[in-house]
Amino acid sequence: MATVEVFEAGHCRSFLCLARRADPWRVGNFPATFGLIESRGGEIVLFDTGYARNIDAAMRRFPFPLYRTLLPITLGTDAVETLRLRGIGADAVGTIVISHFHPDHIGGLRDFPQARFVCSREAWDDVRGKTGLAGLRRGFLGDLLPPDFESRLLFAEDFPAAPDAPASGAHAFVAGSERMVLVPLAGHCAGHLGLIVERSDGRRVLFAGDAVWRLSCIDDGIGPHAIGMAIQHDRRAYASTIDLLARMKREDPALVVVAAHDPAHETA
Ligand SMILES: [Zn+2]
Repeated sequence: MATVEVFEAGHCRSFLCLARRADPWRVGNFPATFGLIESRGGEIVLFDTGYARNIDAAMRRFPFPLYRTLLPITLGTDAVETLRLRGIGADAVGTIVISHFHPDHIGGLRDFPQARFVCSREAWDDVRGKTGLAGLRRGFLGDLLPPDFESRLLFAEDFPAAPDAPASGAHAFVAGSERMVLVPLAGHCAGHLGLIVERSDGRRVLFAGDAVWRLSCIDDGIGPHAIGMAIQHDRRAYASTIDLLARMKREDPALVVVAAHDPAHETA
Protein backbone atom coordinates (compact mmCIF):
# COMPACT_ATOMS: atom_id res chain seq x y z
CA MET A 1 0.00 0.00 0.00
CA ALA A 2 1.21 3.43 -0.88
CA THR A 3 0.89 7.03 0.16
CA VAL A 4 -0.94 8.83 -2.63
CA GLU A 5 -1.38 12.56 -3.10
CA VAL A 6 -2.56 14.81 -5.91
CA PHE A 7 -1.10 18.23 -6.65
CA GLU A 8 -1.64 20.97 -9.20
CA ALA A 9 1.16 22.19 -11.45
CA GLY A 10 -0.34 25.17 -13.22
CA HIS A 11 -3.58 25.45 -15.10
CA CYS A 12 -5.03 26.58 -18.40
CA ARG A 13 -8.29 28.43 -18.99
CA SER A 14 -11.14 27.42 -21.23
CA PHE A 15 -14.92 27.17 -21.26
CA LEU A 16 -16.15 25.04 -18.37
CA CYS A 17 -18.89 23.41 -20.43
CA LEU A 18 -16.33 21.86 -22.77
CA ALA A 19 -15.51 19.36 -20.03
CA ARG A 20 -19.11 18.87 -18.89
CA ARG A 21 -22.00 20.19 -20.96
CA ALA A 22 -24.13 20.95 -17.88
CA ASP A 23 -21.50 23.43 -16.70
CA PRO A 24 -21.80 27.08 -17.76
CA TRP A 25 -20.46 28.80 -20.92
CA ARG A 26 -18.01 30.59 -18.71
CA VAL A 27 -14.23 30.58 -18.85
CA GLY A 28 -12.70 28.84 -15.87
CA ASN A 29 -9.54 27.14 -14.68
CA PHE A 30 -8.55 23.65 -15.73
CA PRO A 31 -5.91 22.64 -13.16
CA ALA A 32 -3.11 20.42 -14.50
CA THR A 33 -2.72 17.81 -11.78
CA PHE A 34 -0.18 15.10 -11.16
CA GLY A 35 -0.08 12.18 -8.74
CA LEU A 36 2.68 11.56 -6.19
CA ILE A 37 2.89 7.95 -5.06
CA GLU A 38 5.32 6.92 -2.35
CA SER A 39 5.55 3.16 -2.31
CA ARG A 40 6.11 1.12 0.83
CA GLY A 41 9.53 0.16 -0.49
CA GLY A 42 10.48 3.81 -0.81
CA GLU A 43 10.28 4.26 -4.57
CA ILE A 44 8.70 7.48 -5.75
CA VAL A 45 6.33 7.25 -8.72
CA LEU A 46 4.63 10.14 -10.47
CA PHE A 47 1.54 9.95 -12.61
CA ASP A 48 2.05 12.73 -15.20
CA THR A 49 3.73 16.00 -14.19
CA GLY A 50 1.37 18.85 -15.05
CA TYR A 51 2.81 21.99 -16.66
CA ALA A 52 6.29 23.23 -15.77
CA ARG A 53 8.57 26.13 -16.63
CA ASN A 54 10.00 24.10 -19.51
CA ILE A 55 6.82 25.07 -21.36
CA ASP A 56 8.00 28.66 -21.84
CA ALA A 57 11.06 27.82 -23.93
CA ALA A 58 9.46 24.88 -25.71
CA MET A 59 6.43 26.87 -26.86
CA ARG A 60 8.29 29.89 -28.18
CA ARG A 61 8.55 28.60 -31.75
CA PHE A 62 5.73 28.47 -34.29
CA PRO A 63 3.20 26.90 -34.27
CA PHE A 64 3.01 26.43 -30.50
CA PRO A 65 2.16 30.03 -29.58
CA LEU A 66 -1.20 29.07 -31.13
CA TYR A 67 -1.67 26.51 -28.37
CA ARG A 68 -1.14 29.18 -25.72
CA THR A 69 -3.57 31.47 -27.50
CA LEU A 70 -6.29 28.82 -27.54
CA LEU A 71 -5.49 27.56 -24.05
CA PRO A 72 -3.92 30.37 -21.98
CA ILE A 73 -1.54 28.77 -19.47
CA THR A 74 -0.71 29.95 -15.98
CA LEU A 75 2.31 28.21 -14.52
CA GLY A 76 2.11 27.33 -10.85
CA THR A 77 4.43 25.39 -8.58
CA ASP A 78 6.19 22.88 -10.81
CA ALA A 79 6.12 19.21 -9.81
CA VAL A 80 9.86 19.25 -9.09
CA GLU A 81 9.40 22.23 -6.73
CA THR A 82 6.39 20.65 -5.01
CA LEU A 83 8.51 17.57 -4.33
CA ARG A 84 11.48 19.65 -3.15
CA LEU A 85 9.24 21.42 -0.62
CA ARG A 86 8.35 17.97 0.70
CA GLY A 87 11.98 16.97 1.02
CA ILE A 88 11.99 14.78 -2.10
CA GLY A 89 14.82 15.42 -4.54
CA ALA A 90 14.30 15.19 -8.29
CA ASP A 91 16.71 12.23 -8.42
CA ALA A 92 14.51 10.25 -6.04
CA VAL A 93 11.74 9.88 -8.62
CA GLY A 94 12.15 6.39 -10.06
CA THR A 95 9.19 6.12 -12.40
CA ILE A 96 6.88 8.52 -14.21
CA VAL A 97 3.77 7.02 -15.75
CA ILE A 98 2.64 9.10 -18.74
CA SER A 99 -1.08 8.99 -19.45
CA HIS A 100 -0.57 10.65 -22.84
CA PHE A 101 1.65 13.28 -24.45
CA HIS A 102 -0.29 16.53 -24.13
CA PRO A 103 1.80 19.40 -22.66
CA ASP A 104 -0.22 19.66 -19.45
CA HIS A 105 0.77 16.05 -18.68
CA ILE A 106 4.43 15.96 -19.72
CA GLY A 107 5.55 19.55 -19.03
CA GLY A 108 7.90 18.51 -16.21
CA LEU A 109 9.50 15.34 -17.61
CA ARG A 110 12.86 17.08 -18.15
CA ASP A 111 13.09 17.88 -14.44
CA PHE A 112 13.54 14.25 -13.33
CA PRO A 113 16.85 12.95 -14.70
CA GLN A 114 16.79 9.53 -13.02
CA ALA A 115 13.22 8.50 -13.77
CA ARG A 116 12.24 5.76 -16.15
CA PHE A 117 9.17 6.60 -18.20
CA VAL A 118 6.20 4.30 -18.76
CA CYS A 119 3.58 4.85 -21.45
CA SER A 120 1.73 2.71 -23.95
CA ARG A 121 3.48 1.74 -27.17
CA GLU A 122 0.47 3.05 -29.11
CA ALA A 123 0.74 6.49 -27.47
CA TRP A 124 4.44 6.81 -28.31
CA ASP A 125 4.03 5.48 -31.86
CA ASP A 126 1.35 8.11 -32.46
CA VAL A 127 3.53 11.10 -31.56
CA ARG A 128 7.11 9.92 -32.15
CA GLY A 129 8.94 12.20 -34.56
CA LYS A 130 5.94 14.54 -35.01
CA THR A 131 7.02 18.17 -35.15
CA GLY A 132 5.52 21.51 -36.20
CA LEU A 133 1.91 21.37 -37.34
CA ALA A 134 1.85 17.55 -37.29
CA GLY A 135 2.85 17.75 -33.64
CA LEU A 136 0.39 20.54 -32.87
CA ARG A 137 -2.46 18.53 -34.40
CA ARG A 138 -1.76 15.88 -31.78
CA GLY A 139 -1.05 18.42 -29.04
CA PHE A 140 2.51 17.06 -28.95
CA LEU A 141 5.55 19.21 -28.30
CA GLY A 142 8.67 17.06 -28.55
CA ASP A 143 10.88 19.74 -26.98
CA LEU A 144 9.27 18.92 -23.63
CA LEU A 145 10.97 15.52 -23.64
CA PRO A 146 14.51 15.08 -22.30
CA PRO A 147 17.09 14.26 -25.00
CA ASP A 148 17.53 10.72 -23.64
CA PHE A 149 13.79 10.08 -23.42
CA GLU A 150 13.69 6.96 -25.57
CA SER A 151 16.55 5.26 -23.73
CA ARG A 152 14.57 5.59 -20.49
CA LEU A 153 11.22 4.58 -21.95
CA LEU A 154 9.36 1.37 -21.11
CA PHE A 155 6.09 0.28 -22.65
CA ALA A 156 3.10 -0.78 -20.59
CA GLU A 157 2.49 -3.71 -22.92
CA ASP A 158 5.90 -5.21 -22.07
CA PHE A 159 5.05 -5.65 -18.38
CA PRO A 160 3.22 -8.82 -17.26
CA ALA A 161 -0.50 -8.92 -18.05
CA ALA A 162 -2.86 -8.18 -15.15
CA PRO A 163 -5.95 -10.29 -15.87
CA ASP A 164 -7.34 -9.48 -12.40
CA ALA A 165 -7.64 -5.77 -13.29
CA PRO A 166 -11.11 -4.25 -13.69
CA ALA A 167 -10.36 -3.32 -17.32
CA SER A 168 -9.10 -5.50 -20.15
CA GLY A 169 -5.61 -5.14 -21.58
CA ALA A 170 -4.08 -4.14 -18.23
CA HIS A 171 -0.44 -4.76 -17.25
CA ALA A 172 1.29 -4.51 -13.89
CA PHE A 173 4.71 -3.36 -12.73
CA VAL A 174 6.35 -3.26 -9.34
CA ALA A 175 7.78 -0.10 -7.79
CA GLY A 176 9.44 -0.56 -4.42
CA SER A 177 7.31 -3.35 -3.01
CA GLU A 178 4.14 -2.02 -4.61
CA ARG A 179 2.22 -3.57 -7.49
CA MET A 180 0.80 -0.91 -9.78
CA VAL A 181 -1.62 -1.62 -12.60
CA LEU A 182 -1.56 0.18 -15.95
CA VAL A 183 -5.00 0.22 -17.56
CA PRO A 184 -5.82 1.29 -21.11
CA LEU A 185 -8.46 4.04 -21.00
CA ALA A 186 -9.09 4.58 -24.70
CA GLY A 187 -10.56 7.53 -26.54
CA HIS A 188 -8.96 10.81 -25.51
CA CYS A 189 -5.67 10.09 -27.29
CA ALA A 190 -4.15 7.09 -29.01
CA GLY A 191 -2.99 4.68 -26.30
CA HIS A 192 -4.21 6.75 -23.37
CA LEU A 193 -3.29 5.08 -20.07
CA GLY A 194 -4.54 5.09 -16.48
CA LEU A 195 -2.91 3.79 -13.31
CA ILE A 196 -4.37 1.94 -10.31
CA VAL A 197 -2.56 1.88 -6.97
CA GLU A 198 -3.68 0.74 -3.54
CA ARG A 199 -3.59 3.49 -0.96
CA SER A 200 -2.48 2.92 2.63
CA ASP A 201 -6.10 3.14 3.86
CA GLY A 202 -6.94 0.16 1.65
CA ARG A 203 -8.81 2.17 -0.99
CA ARG A 204 -7.77 1.82 -4.60
CA VAL A 205 -6.93 4.99 -6.49
CA LEU A 206 -7.39 5.18 -10.25
CA PHE A 207 -5.52 7.98 -11.96
CA ALA A 208 -7.70 8.46 -15.02
CA GLY A 209 -5.74 11.23 -16.75
CA ASP A 210 -7.89 12.83 -19.44
CA ALA A 211 -10.17 9.79 -19.83
CA VAL A 212 -12.55 12.01 -17.88
CA TRP A 213 -12.00 15.73 -17.33
CA ARG A 214 -14.37 16.07 -14.39
CA LEU A 215 -15.22 13.30 -11.97
CA SER A 216 -18.80 14.60 -11.93
CA CYS A 217 -19.13 13.38 -15.56
CA ILE A 218 -19.06 9.78 -14.39
CA ASP A 219 -21.11 10.47 -11.26
CA ASP A 220 -24.11 11.79 -13.19
CA GLY A 221 -23.38 10.62 -16.74
CA ILE A 222 -23.25 14.16 -18.17
CA GLY A 223 -20.29 14.26 -20.51
CA PRO A 224 -18.46 16.99 -22.43
CA HIS A 225 -20.08 19.51 -24.77
CA ALA A 226 -20.08 18.49 -28.45
CA ILE A 227 -17.04 20.76 -29.00
CA GLY A 228 -15.23 18.97 -26.18
CA MET A 229 -16.16 15.62 -27.73
CA ALA A 230 -15.00 16.75 -31.19
CA ILE A 231 -11.39 16.99 -30.02
CA GLN A 232 -11.30 13.42 -28.68
CA HIS A 233 -9.18 11.01 -30.69
CA ASP A 234 -11.95 8.36 -30.79
CA ARG A 235 -15.35 9.56 -29.59
CA ARG A 236 -16.95 6.15 -29.41
CA ALA A 237 -14.07 4.73 -27.37
CA TYR A 238 -14.13 7.84 -25.14
CA ALA A 239 -17.83 7.27 -24.36
CA SER A 240 -17.16 3.56 -23.68
CA THR A 241 -14.36 4.51 -21.29
CA ILE A 242 -16.70 6.83 -19.36
CA ASP A 243 -19.09 3.86 -19.06
CA LEU A 244 -16.21 1.66 -17.92
CA LEU A 245 -15.20 4.15 -15.22
CA ALA A 246 -18.80 4.39 -14.00
CA ARG A 247 -19.00 0.59 -13.83
CA MET A 248 -15.71 0.42 -11.90
CA LYS A 249 -17.11 2.94 -9.39
CA ARG A 250 -20.32 0.90 -9.01
CA GLU A 251 -18.38 -2.31 -8.45
CA ASP A 252 -16.02 -0.70 -5.96
CA PRO A 253 -17.75 2.29 -4.30
CA ALA A 254 -14.56 3.01 -2.34
CA LEU A 255 -12.59 3.48 -5.58
CA VAL A 256 -11.08 6.96 -5.79
CA VAL A 257 -11.06 8.17 -9.40
CA VAL A 258 -8.74 11.10 -10.04
CA ALA A 259 -9.71 13.16 -13.09
CA ALA A 260 -6.72 15.14 -14.32
CA HIS A 261 -8.46 18.53 -14.40
CA ASP A 262 -10.46 18.53 -11.21
CA PRO A 263 -8.97 20.79 -8.51
CA ALA A 264 -6.52 18.73 -6.46
CA HIS A 265 -8.26 19.62 -3.19
CA GLU A 266 -11.47 18.00 -4.47
CA THR A 267 -9.71 14.65 -4.79
CA ALA A 268 -10.69 12.39 -1.90
ZN1 LIG B 1 -5.12 15.56 -22.97
